[in-house]
Amino acid sequence: MKITFDEEKCCGAGQCVLVAPEVFDQDDDGIVVLLNPSPSDDLREAVEEAAAVCPANVIHVE
Ligand code: SF4
Repeated sequence: MKITFDEEKCCGAGQCVLVAPEVFDQDDDGIVVLLNPSPSDDLREAVEEAAAVCPANVIHVE
């Protein structure tokens, strides 16, 4: 699994961090920080949910 995101469009809502804290964090401005761009497949469900709930729709999963 490979994750990419558009940092410039992140609005800092933090939904991704709530759903998948193993993969996503936020910097001091609330902008998403990717802790692991290639997480193992057992995290796929959480990562896909994070992408689905992101209000800015900036998380992409391959
Ligand atoms: S849910 Fe989307 S907009 Fe919110 S912090 Fe995560 S990537 Fe950014």
